[in-house]
Amino acid sequence: MDRTRTDIYLDGRWVAASGGETLPVRNPATEEVFASVPAGTPADVDRAVAAARAAFPGWASAAPADRAAHLDRLHAALTARADEIARTVATELGTPLKVATRIQAGLPLTVLRGYVELAARPPAEETVGNSLVVREPVGVVGAITPWNYPLHQVVAKVGAALAAGCTVVLKPSELTPLTAYLLFDAVHEAGLPAGVINLVPGAGPVVGEALAAHPDVDMVSFTGSTATGRRIAHLAADRVARVALELGGKSANVILDDADLATAVKVGVGNAFLNSGQTCTAWTRMLVHRDRYAEAVELAAAAAGTYRLGDPFDPATRLGPLVSAAQRERVRGHVEKGLADGGRLVAGGPDAPLPGRGFFVAPTVIADVDPDSALAQEEVFGPVLALLPVSDDEHAVAVANNSRYGLAGAVWSGDEERALRVARGIRTGAVDINGGAFNPLAPFGGYKQSGLGRELGSHGLDEFRQVKAIQR
Ligand code: NAD
Repeated sequence: MDRTRTDIYLDGRWVAASGGETLPVRNPATEEVFASVPAGTPADVDRAVAAARAAFPGWASAAPADRAAHLDRLHAALTARADEIARTVATELGTPLKVATRIQAGLPLTVLRGYVELAARPPAEETVGNSLVVREPVGVVGAITPWNYPLHQVVAKVGAALAAGCTVVLKPSELTPLTAYLLFDAVHEAGLPAGVINLVPGAGPVVGEALAAHPDVDMVSFTGSTATGRRIAHLAADRVARVALELGGKSANVILDDADLATAVKVGVGNAFLNSGQTCTAWTRMLVHRDRYAEAVELAAAAAGTYRLGDPFDPATRLGPLVSAAQRERVRGHVEKGLADGGRLVAGGPDAPLPGRGFFVAPTVIADVDPDSALAQEEVFGPVLALLPVSDDEHAVAVANNSRYGLAGAVWSGDEERALRVARGIRTGAVDINGGAFNPLAPFGGYKQSGLGRELGSHGLDEFRQVKAIQR
Protein backbone atom coordinates (compact mmCIF):
# COMPACT_ATOMS: atom_id res chain seq x y z
CA MET A 1 0.00 0.00 0.00
CA ASP A 2 1.37 3.41 -0.93
CA ARG A 3 1.32 5.61 2.16
CA THR A 4 2.83 8.71 0.53
CA ARG A 5 1.90 12.08 2.04
CA THR A 6 2.33 15.17 -0.07
CA ASP A 7 1.47 18.09 2.22
CA ILE A 8 2.59 19.75 5.43
CA TYR A 9 0.23 21.10 8.11
CA LEU A 10 0.28 24.89 8.57
CA ASP A 11 -2.20 27.22 10.19
CA GLY A 12 -4.97 24.63 10.38
CA ARG A 13 -4.66 23.42 6.76
CA TRP A 14 -2.87 20.82 4.66
CA VAL A 15 -0.72 22.79 2.20
CA ALA A 16 2.10 22.07 -0.25
CA ALA A 17 5.66 22.36 1.06
CA SER A 18 7.65 25.19 -0.53
CA GLY A 19 10.29 22.89 -2.10
CA GLY A 20 9.67 19.99 -4.45
CA GLU A 21 11.94 17.46 -2.73
CA THR A 22 10.65 14.38 -0.93
CA LEU A 23 12.13 11.99 1.64
CA PRO A 24 11.61 8.21 1.29
CA VAL A 25 10.19 6.12 4.14
CA ARG A 26 11.56 2.58 4.36
CA ASN A 27 10.13 -0.54 5.98
CA PRO A 28 13.12 -1.87 7.99
CA ALA A 29 11.81 -5.46 7.97
CA THR A 30 11.65 -5.64 4.16
CA GLU A 31 14.18 -2.88 3.36
CA GLU A 32 11.67 -1.50 0.83
CA VAL A 33 10.63 2.12 0.39
CA PHE A 34 6.85 2.19 0.83
CA ALA A 35 6.06 5.91 1.19
CA SER A 36 7.50 9.39 1.03
CA VAL A 37 6.90 12.72 2.73
CA PRO A 38 7.80 16.28 1.69
CA ALA A 39 11.28 17.47 2.62
CA GLY A 40 10.44 20.70 4.45
CA THR A 41 12.60 23.80 4.02
CA PRO A 42 13.62 26.75 6.20
CA ALA A 43 10.91 28.75 4.36
CA ASP A 44 8.32 26.23 5.60
CA VAL A 45 9.67 26.64 9.14
CA ASP A 46 9.25 30.43 8.80
CA ARG A 47 5.63 30.00 7.74
CA ALA A 48 4.92 27.50 10.52
CA VAL A 49 6.51 29.67 13.22
CA ALA A 50 4.54 32.70 11.98
CA ALA A 51 1.31 30.68 12.23
CA ALA A 52 2.19 29.48 15.74
CA ARG A 53 3.10 33.05 16.79
CA ALA A 54 -0.19 34.43 15.46
CA ALA A 55 -2.17 31.71 17.26
CA PHE A 56 -0.33 32.15 20.57
CA PRO A 57 -2.23 35.06 22.19
CA GLY A 58 -5.61 33.42 21.64
CA TRP A 59 -4.53 29.97 22.79
CA ALA A 60 -2.56 31.30 25.76
CA SER A 61 -5.51 33.31 27.02
CA ALA A 62 -8.18 30.63 26.38
CA ALA A 63 -9.90 29.30 29.49
CA PRO A 64 -8.25 26.09 30.80
CA ALA A 65 -11.57 24.28 30.29
CA ASP A 66 -11.60 25.28 26.60
CA ARG A 67 -8.06 24.02 26.03
CA ALA A 68 -8.97 20.81 27.86
CA ALA A 69 -12.05 20.37 25.63
CA HIS A 70 -9.90 20.70 22.51
CA LEU A 71 -7.38 18.19 23.85
CA ASP A 72 -10.22 15.85 24.77
CA ARG A 73 -11.45 15.91 21.16
CA LEU A 74 -7.90 15.29 19.98
CA HIS A 75 -7.69 12.31 22.35
CA ALA A 76 -10.91 10.89 20.89
CA ALA A 77 -9.71 11.37 17.30
CA LEU A 78 -6.39 9.72 18.13
CA THR A 79 -8.07 6.83 19.97
CA ALA A 80 -10.11 6.13 16.83
CA ARG A 81 -6.79 5.67 15.02
CA ALA A 82 -5.09 3.42 17.61
CA ASP A 83 -4.96 0.35 15.35
CA GLU A 84 -3.66 2.37 12.42
CA ILE A 85 -1.01 3.94 14.66
CA ALA A 86 0.18 0.51 15.85
CA ARG A 87 0.31 -0.83 12.27
CA THR A 88 2.11 2.28 11.04
CA VAL A 89 4.78 2.04 13.76
CA ALA A 90 5.18 -1.69 13.02
CA THR A 91 5.74 -0.79 9.34
CA GLU A 92 7.99 2.29 9.57
CA LEU A 93 9.96 1.30 12.69
CA GLY A 94 9.57 -2.49 12.90
CA THR A 95 8.20 -2.79 16.45
CA PRO A 96 6.32 -6.13 16.74
CA LEU A 97 2.60 -5.38 16.35
CA LYS A 98 1.67 -6.61 19.83
CA VAL A 99 4.21 -4.31 21.49
CA ALA A 100 3.31 -1.50 19.09
CA THR A 101 -0.34 -1.78 20.09
CA ARG A 102 0.38 -1.83 23.82
CA ILE A 103 3.19 0.74 24.00
CA GLN A 104 3.60 2.70 20.76
CA ALA A 105 -0.15 3.41 20.45
CA GLY A 106 -1.34 2.78 24.02
CA LEU A 107 1.18 4.87 25.96
CA PRO A 108 0.67 8.17 24.09
CA LEU A 109 -3.10 7.82 24.55
CA THR A 110 -2.57 7.42 28.30
CA VAL A 111 -0.18 10.40 28.36
CA LEU A 112 -2.60 12.59 26.37
CA ARG A 113 -5.48 11.61 28.66
CA GLY A 114 -3.37 12.86 31.59
CA TYR A 115 -2.81 16.18 29.81
CA VAL A 116 -6.54 16.60 29.13
CA GLU A 117 -7.02 16.49 32.90
CA LEU A 118 -4.04 18.73 33.72
CA ALA A 119 -5.08 21.26 31.04
CA ALA A 120 -8.40 21.77 32.81
CA ARG A 121 -6.70 22.94 36.02
CA PRO A 122 -5.78 26.63 36.17
CA PRO A 123 -2.06 27.01 36.92
CA ALA A 124 -1.27 27.29 40.62
CA GLU A 125 -0.74 30.82 41.97
CA GLU A 126 1.06 31.52 45.22
CA THR A 127 1.66 34.47 47.48
CA VAL A 128 5.25 35.05 48.62
CA GLY A 129 5.45 38.06 50.92
CA ASN A 130 4.08 40.99 48.90
CA SER A 131 4.36 39.08 45.61
CA LEU A 132 1.71 37.22 43.69
CA VAL A 133 3.51 34.46 41.74
CA VAL A 134 1.70 33.42 38.58
CA ARG A 135 2.52 30.90 35.85
CA GLU A 136 2.25 31.70 32.14
CA PRO A 137 2.93 29.75 28.94
CA VAL A 138 6.47 30.10 27.53
CA GLY A 139 5.30 30.92 23.98
CA VAL A 140 6.06 29.25 20.64
CA VAL A 141 7.67 25.83 21.04
CA GLY A 142 9.79 24.02 18.46
CA ALA A 143 9.52 20.27 19.07
CA ILE A 144 12.06 17.92 17.48
CA THR A 145 11.56 14.20 18.00
CA PRO A 146 13.28 10.87 17.24
CA TRP A 147 12.09 7.60 15.70
CA ASN A 148 12.19 5.07 18.52
CA TYR A 149 8.81 5.88 20.16
CA PRO A 150 7.55 8.10 17.36
CA LEU A 151 4.13 9.03 18.73
CA HIS A 152 4.90 8.87 22.46
CA GLN A 153 7.79 11.31 22.17
CA VAL A 154 5.64 13.70 20.14
CA VAL A 155 2.67 13.53 22.52
CA ALA A 156 4.87 13.94 25.62
CA LYS A 157 5.90 17.35 24.21
CA VAL A 158 2.80 18.44 22.33
CA GLY A 159 0.32 17.35 25.03
CA ALA A 160 2.19 19.25 27.73
CA ALA A 161 2.89 22.33 25.59
CA LEU A 162 -0.71 22.70 24.40
CA ALA A 163 -2.06 22.07 27.90
CA ALA A 164 0.21 24.84 29.21
CA GLY A 165 -1.10 27.30 26.57
CA CYS A 166 1.91 27.20 24.22
CA THR A 167 1.68 26.79 20.44
CA VAL A 168 3.87 24.29 18.61
CA VAL A 169 5.81 23.57 15.44
CA LEU A 170 6.73 19.87 15.22
CA LYS A 171 9.57 18.32 13.25
CA PRO A 172 9.31 14.53 13.59
CA SER A 173 12.10 12.10 12.70
CA GLU A 174 12.58 11.65 8.97
CA LEU A 175 12.78 7.88 9.58
CA THR A 176 9.26 7.61 11.08
CA PRO A 177 7.21 10.59 9.87
CA LEU A 178 3.98 8.71 9.06
CA THR A 179 2.90 8.30 12.68
CA ALA A 180 3.15 12.09 13.11
CA TYR A 181 0.91 12.50 10.06
CA LEU A 182 -1.73 10.39 11.79
CA LEU A 183 -1.56 12.74 14.78
CA PHE A 184 -2.17 15.71 12.47
CA ASP A 185 -5.09 13.92 10.80
CA ALA A 186 -6.51 13.72 14.33
CA VAL A 187 -5.65 17.39 15.01
CA HIS A 188 -7.54 18.39 11.86
CA GLU A 189 -10.53 16.21 12.69
CA ALA A 190 -10.62 17.53 16.26
CA GLY A 191 -10.73 21.09 14.91
CA LEU A 192 -7.94 22.58 16.99
CA PRO A 193 -7.68 26.35 16.37
CA ALA A 194 -5.59 27.22 13.30
CA GLY A 195 -1.88 27.67 13.98
CA VAL A 196 -1.91 26.13 17.44
CA ILE A 197 0.01 23.12 16.16
CA ASN A 198 1.92 22.84 12.87
CA LEU A 199 3.87 20.06 11.14
CA VAL A 200 7.05 20.50 9.10
CA PRO A 201 8.70 17.15 8.29
CA GLY A 202 12.22 17.06 6.93
CA ALA A 203 15.89 16.46 7.53
CA GLY A 204 17.43 17.29 10.92
CA PRO A 205 20.24 19.51 9.64
CA VAL A 206 17.74 21.49 7.48
CA VAL A 207 14.34 21.74 9.20
CA GLY A 208 15.58 20.86 12.71
CA GLU A 209 18.36 23.47 12.64
CA ALA A 210 16.06 26.13 11.16
CA LEU A 211 13.57 25.51 13.96
CA ALA A 212 16.14 25.43 16.76
CA ALA A 213 17.79 28.61 15.45
CA HIS A 214 14.57 30.49 14.68
CA PRO A 215 14.50 33.93 16.39
CA ASP A 216 10.76 33.67 17.07
CA VAL A 217 10.84 30.22 18.75
CA ASP A 218 10.79 30.74 22.54
CA MET A 219 11.63 27.17 23.52
CA VAL A 220 13.07 24.10 21.84
CA SER A 221 12.04 20.73 23.20
CA PHE A 222 14.22 17.92 21.83
CA THR A 223 14.50 14.16 22.23
CA GLY A 224 17.30 12.25 20.51
CA SER A 225 21.03 11.77 20.64
CA THR A 226 23.30 13.65 23.02
CA ALA A 227 25.35 14.95 20.06
CA THR A 228 22.31 16.56 18.43
CA GLY A 229 21.05 17.82 21.79
CA ARG A 230 24.34 19.64 22.32
CA ARG A 231 24.04 21.21 18.83
CA ILE A 232 20.49 22.38 19.57
CA ALA A 233 21.53 23.87 22.91
CA HIS A 234 24.26 25.84 21.10
CA LEU A 235 21.77 27.15 18.53
CA ALA A 236 19.26 28.15 21.22
CA ALA A 237 21.97 29.78 23.34
CA ASP A 238 22.50 32.53 20.74
CA ARG A 239 19.13 34.06 21.67
CA VAL A 240 18.96 32.58 25.21
CA ALA A 241 15.92 30.46 24.32
CA ARG A 242 14.81 27.80 26.76
CA VAL A 243 15.73 24.20 25.90
CA ALA A 244 14.45 20.88 27.21
CA LEU A 245 16.61 17.93 26.22
CA GLU A 246 15.82 14.21 26.56
CA LEU A 247 19.00 12.48 25.45
CA GLY A 248 20.74 9.12 25.60
CA GLY A 249 21.29 6.71 28.47
CA LYS A 250 23.40 3.80 29.68
CA SER A 251 21.23 2.58 32.51
CA ALA A 252 22.37 0.05 35.11
CA ASN A 253 20.22 -2.81 36.37
CA VAL A 254 21.70 -3.59 39.81
CA ILE A 255 20.93 -7.11 41.06
CA LEU A 256 21.91 -7.56 44.72
CA ASP A 257 22.75 -10.94 46.29
CA ASP A 258 19.36 -11.27 48.06
CA ALA A 259 17.31 -10.62 44.90
CA ASP A 260 14.87 -13.00 43.22
CA LEU A 261 17.49 -13.72 40.57
CA ALA A 262 15.31 -15.52 38.03
CA THR A 263 12.78 -12.66 37.91
CA ALA A 264 15.41 -9.91 38.01
CA VAL A 265 17.33 -11.39 35.07
CA LYS A 266 14.24 -12.22 33.00
CA VAL A 267 12.71 -8.75 33.45
CA GLY A 268 16.13 -7.15 32.97
CA VAL A 269 16.72 -8.90 29.64
CA GLY A 270 13.20 -7.95 28.52
CA ASN A 271 13.86 -4.32 29.39
CA ALA A 272 17.21 -4.27 27.55
CA PHE A 273 15.66 -5.80 24.41
CA LEU A 274 12.37 -3.85 24.35
CA ASN A 275 11.83 -2.29 20.91
CA SER A 276 15.01 -4.11 19.75
CA GLY A 277 16.99 -2.20 22.38
CA GLN A 278 16.04 1.15 20.82
CA THR A 279 14.86 2.64 24.10
CA CYS A 280 16.69 5.50 25.79
CA THR A 281 15.97 4.13 29.30
CA ALA A 282 17.01 0.54 28.42
CA TRP A 283 18.89 -1.23 31.25
CA THR A 284 21.86 -2.01 29.04
CA ARG A 285 24.30 -2.82 31.86
CA MET A 286 23.36 -5.67 34.21
CA LEU A 287 25.41 -5.40 37.41
CA VAL A 288 25.28 -8.61 39.48
CA HIS A 289 26.75 -9.46 42.87
CA ARG A 290 29.76 -11.77 42.40
CA ASP A 291 28.20 -14.63 44.40
CA ARG A 292 25.36 -14.91 41.92
CA TYR A 293 27.08 -13.66 38.78
CA ALA A 294 27.75 -17.01 37.05
CA GLU A 295 24.15 -18.07 37.56
CA ALA A 296 22.92 -14.69 36.21
CA VAL A 297 25.06 -15.05 33.07
CA GLU A 298 23.48 -18.44 32.35
CA LEU A 299 19.96 -17.15 32.97
CA ALA A 300 20.53 -14.10 30.74
CA ALA A 301 21.91 -16.24 27.89
CA ALA A 302 18.93 -18.61 28.16
CA ALA A 303 16.47 -15.70 28.23
CA ALA A 304 18.07 -14.12 25.14
CA GLY A 305 17.56 -17.41 23.30
CA THR A 306 13.78 -17.09 23.67
CA TYR A 307 13.59 -13.84 21.65
CA ARG A 308 12.44 -14.81 18.20
CA LEU A 309 13.38 -12.39 15.41
CA GLY A 310 11.13 -11.85 12.45
CA ASP A 311 8.26 -10.10 10.72
CA PRO A 312 6.75 -7.49 13.07
CA PHE A 313 3.27 -8.57 11.92
CA ASP A 314 3.83 -12.25 12.85
CA PRO A 315 2.35 -12.86 16.34
CA ALA A 316 5.25 -15.22 17.16
CA THR A 317 7.83 -12.41 16.68
CA ARG A 318 9.33 -10.93 19.85
CA LEU A 319 12.05 -8.79 18.26
CA GLY A 320 11.78 -6.75 15.08
CA PRO A 321 14.61 -5.21 13.05
CA LEU A 322 16.52 -2.03 13.88
CA VAL A 323 15.17 1.13 12.29
CA SER A 324 17.78 1.50 9.53
CA ALA A 325 20.83 -0.01 7.88
CA ALA A 326 22.95 2.73 9.46
CA GLN A 327 21.68 1.83 12.92
CA ARG A 328 22.37 -1.88 12.30
CA GLU A 329 25.95 -1.09 11.25
CA ARG A 330 26.44 1.07 14.35
CA VAL A 331 25.19 -1.72 16.62
CA ARG A 332 27.34 -4.37 14.88
CA GLY A 333 30.35 -2.11 15.44
CA HIS A 334 29.56 -1.88 19.17
CA VAL A 335 29.32 -5.69 19.44
CA GLU A 336 32.61 -6.23 17.61
CA LYS A 337 34.38 -3.64 19.75
CA GLY A 338 32.92 -5.16 22.93
CA LEU A 339 34.31 -8.58 22.02
CA ALA A 340 37.68 -7.15 20.92
CA ASP A 341 37.91 -5.36 24.29
CA GLY A 342 37.67 -8.70 26.14
CA GLY A 343 33.91 -9.23 26.55
CA ARG A 344 32.77 -12.87 26.58
CA LEU A 345 29.98 -13.68 24.10
CA VAL A 346 27.29 -15.82 25.74
CA ALA A 347 24.34 -15.29 23.35
CA GLY A 348 23.81 -13.92 19.84
CA GLY A 349 26.77 -12.09 18.37
CA PRO A 350 28.02 -11.50 14.83
CA ASP A 351 27.58 -15.09 13.59
CA ALA A 352 24.08 -15.82 14.92
CA PRO A 353 21.45 -16.66 12.26
CA LEU A 354 19.24 -13.82 11.01
CA PRO A 355 16.20 -13.48 8.73
CA GLY A 356 17.17 -13.23 5.06
CA ARG A 357 16.30 -9.55 4.75
CA GLY A 358 15.65 -6.64 7.08
CA PHE A 359 17.96 -4.65 9.37
CA PHE A 360 18.18 -7.33 12.07
CA VAL A 361 20.72 -7.82 14.85
CA ALA A 362 20.58 -11.01 16.95
CA PRO A 363 19.73 -10.58 20.64
CA THR A 364 23.21 -10.50 22.14
CA VAL A 365 24.55 -10.95 25.67
CA ILE A 366 28.18 -10.15 26.47
CA ALA A 367 29.59 -11.03 29.92
CA ASP A 368 32.70 -9.83 31.81
CA VAL A 369 32.50 -6.37 30.28
CA ASP A 370 35.10 -3.94 31.63
CA PRO A 371 33.23 -1.01 33.26
CA ASP A 372 35.54 1.48 31.51
CA SER A 373 35.30 -0.14 28.06
CA ALA A 374 33.29 1.33 25.19
CA LEU A 375 30.52 -1.28 25.53
CA ALA A 376 29.92 -0.21 29.13
CA GLN A 377 30.16 3.50 28.33
CA GLU A 378 28.57 4.09 24.89
CA GLU A 379 24.86 4.02 24.11
CA VAL A 380 24.37 1.05 21.73
CA PHE A 381 20.65 1.38 20.86
CA GLY A 382 20.33 -2.26 19.82
CA PRO A 383 19.47 -5.62 21.46
CA VAL A 384 22.80 -5.89 23.26
CA LEU A 385 23.16 -6.51 27.01
CA ALA A 386 26.45 -6.17 28.92
CA LEU A 387 26.96 -8.09 32.20
CA LEU A 388 29.39 -6.86 34.86
CA PRO A 389 30.17 -8.40 38.28
CA VAL A 390 30.16 -6.19 41.41
CA SER A 391 31.44 -6.92 44.94
CA ASP A 392 28.98 -5.15 47.25
CA ASP A 393 26.32 -2.42 47.33
CA GLU A 394 28.85 0.41 47.41
CA HIS A 395 30.73 -1.02 44.46
CA ALA A 396 27.45 -1.50 42.58
CA VAL A 397 26.56 2.18 43.05
CA ALA A 398 30.06 3.24 41.97
CA VAL A 399 29.89 1.16 38.78
CA ALA A 400 26.31 2.31 38.07
CA ASN A 401 27.49 5.92 38.38
CA ASN A 402 30.57 5.35 36.22
CA SER A 403 28.80 6.86 33.21
CA ARG A 404 28.44 10.24 31.58
CA TYR A 405 24.74 9.44 31.28
CA GLY A 406 22.12 9.51 34.06
CA LEU A 407 18.70 8.63 32.70
CA ALA A 408 17.30 5.54 34.46
CA GLY A 409 18.17 2.33 36.28
CA ALA A 410 16.91 -0.49 38.46
CA VAL A 411 17.65 -2.24 41.74
CA TRP A 412 16.58 -5.75 42.77
CA SER A 413 16.75 -6.93 46.39
CA GLY A 414 14.69 -8.95 48.88
CA ASP A 415 15.10 -6.03 51.31
CA GLU A 416 13.28 -2.91 50.13
CA GLU A 417 15.15 -0.59 52.54
CA ARG A 418 18.45 -1.81 51.16
CA ALA A 419 17.18 -1.38 47.59
CA LEU A 420 16.03 2.15 48.42
CA ARG A 421 19.48 3.05 49.81
CA VAL A 422 21.09 1.87 46.57
CA ALA A 423 18.40 3.65 44.46
CA ARG A 424 19.10 6.93 46.28
CA GLY A 425 22.81 6.53 45.53
CA ILE A 426 22.33 6.16 41.78
CA ARG A 427 22.66 9.51 39.95
CA THR A 428 19.84 9.18 37.42
CA GLY A 429 16.41 10.72 36.83
CA ALA A 430 14.58 7.47 37.59
CA VAL A 431 15.19 4.13 39.33
CA ASP A 432 12.80 1.14 39.46
CA ILE A 433 12.88 -1.15 42.50
CA ASN A 434 12.00 -4.83 41.95
CA GLY A 435 10.33 -4.09 38.62
CA GLY A 436 8.29 -1.09 39.83
CA ALA A 437 5.92 -0.23 36.98
CA PHE A 438 6.47 2.69 34.61
CA ASN A 439 4.44 5.65 35.85
CA PRO A 440 3.32 7.99 33.04
CA LEU A 441 2.58 10.78 35.55
CA ALA A 442 6.04 10.68 37.19
CA PRO A 443 8.73 13.16 36.06
CA PHE A 444 10.92 11.69 33.31
CA GLY A 445 14.34 13.00 32.37
CA GLY A 446 18.06 12.82 32.85
CA TYR A 447 20.94 13.77 35.09
CA LYS A 448 24.35 14.53 33.56
CA GLN A 449 24.52 14.18 29.74
CA SER A 450 21.11 12.49 29.60
CA GLY A 451 19.45 15.87 29.41
CA LEU A 452 17.91 18.97 30.86
CA GLY A 453 14.38 19.31 32.21
CA ARG A 454 11.60 16.80 32.75
CA GLU A 455 8.71 15.45 30.72
CA LEU A 456 5.38 13.83 31.67
CA GLY A 457 2.83 14.70 34.31
CA SER A 458 2.72 18.07 36.04
CA HIS A 459 6.54 18.37 35.98
CA GLY A 460 6.41 18.06 32.19
CA LEU A 461 3.71 20.74 32.03
CA ASP A 462 5.74 23.18 34.13
CA GLU A 463 8.63 22.97 31.63
CA PHE A 464 6.39 24.93 29.24
CA ARG A 465 5.60 27.69 31.75
CA GLN A 466 7.30 30.83 32.95
CA VAL A 467 6.80 32.19 36.47
CA LYS A 468 6.06 35.87 37.02
CA ALA A 469 6.23 37.75 40.32
CA ILE A 470 3.76 40.62 40.68
CA GLN A 471 4.57 42.90 43.64
CA ARG A 472 1.82 44.88 45.32
P1 NAD B 1 19.24 12.32 16.23
O1 NAD B 1 19.55 13.03 17.46
O2 NAD B 1 20.14 12.47 15.06
O3 NAD B 1 17.77 12.68 15.70
C1 NAD B 1 16.68 13.05 16.54
C2 NAD B 1 15.91 14.18 15.86
O4 NAD B 1 16.77 15.30 15.70
C3 NAD B 1 15.41 13.84 14.47
O5 NAD B 1 14.16 14.46 14.25
C4 NAD B 1 16.46 14.45 13.58
O6 NAD B 1 15.98 14.77 12.30
C5 NAD B 1 16.79 15.71 14.35
N1 NAD B 1 18.12 16.28 14.04
C6 NAD B 1 19.21 15.63 13.59
N2 NAD B 1 20.23 16.50 13.43
C7 NAD B 1 19.76 17.72 13.78
C8 NAD B 1 20.34 19.02 13.83
N3 NAD B 1 21.61 19.23 13.48
N4 NAD B 1 19.58 20.04 14.26
C9 NAD B 1 18.29 19.84 14.63
N5 NAD B 1 17.69 18.64 14.58
C10 NAD B 1 18.42 17.58 14.18
O7 NAD B 1 19.11 10.83 16.58
P2 NAD B 1 19.01 9.62 15.55
O8 NAD B 1 19.95 9.76 14.41
O9 NAD B 1 17.59 9.46 15.23
O10 NAD B 1 19.57 8.47 16.46
C11 NAD B 1 20.97 8.42 16.73
C12 NAD B 1 21.24 8.03 18.13
O11 NAD B 1 20.51 8.87 19.02
C13 NAD B 1 20.77 6.65 18.49
O12 NAD B 1 21.71 5.70 18.14
C14 NAD B 1 20.60 6.76 19.96
O13 NAD B 1 21.81 6.57 20.61
C15 NAD B 1 20.16 8.16 20.18
N6 NAD B 1 18.72 8.29 20.39
C16 NAD B 1 18.26 8.54 21.63
C17 NAD B 1 16.91 8.67 21.84
C18 NAD B 1 16.33 8.95 23.16
O14 NAD B 1 15.14 8.80 23.36
N7 NAD B 1 17.11 9.39 24.13
C19 NAD B 1 16.01 8.53 20.79
C20 NAD B 1 16.52 8.28 19.51
C21 NAD B 1 17.88 8.19 19.34
